[in-house]
Amino acid sequence: MVKVGVKCPFCEQAESVKKHGMGTTGHQRYRCQSCCRTFQLDYAYHACQPGMKEKIVYLAMNNAGIRDTARALHISINTVVRTLKNARRDV
Ligand SMILES: [Zn+2]
Repeated sequence: MVKVGVKCPFCEQAESVKKHGMGTTGHQRYRCQSCCRTFQLDYAYHACQPGMKEKIVYLAMNNAGIRDTARALHISINTVVRTLKNARRDV
């Protein structure tokens, strides 16, 4: 049992996370044995992180503005605009 000291972003368990090979972009992937999901810490694109869409929508809806939202989340303005367009379509 190799402890990696990584917390699962889905169930927040740190005890049951093990290494799970490399992702397509060469990042270390991890697997949580508690909820059986895989994830990686260093996503190639910040916008691909779980919950990022919700964060973008939340910030934009709370008058943070597209520019401030992009800066706060370290993503591009284009990503914010695209995400908001898609989110509106979902509603
Ligand atoms: Zn988990």
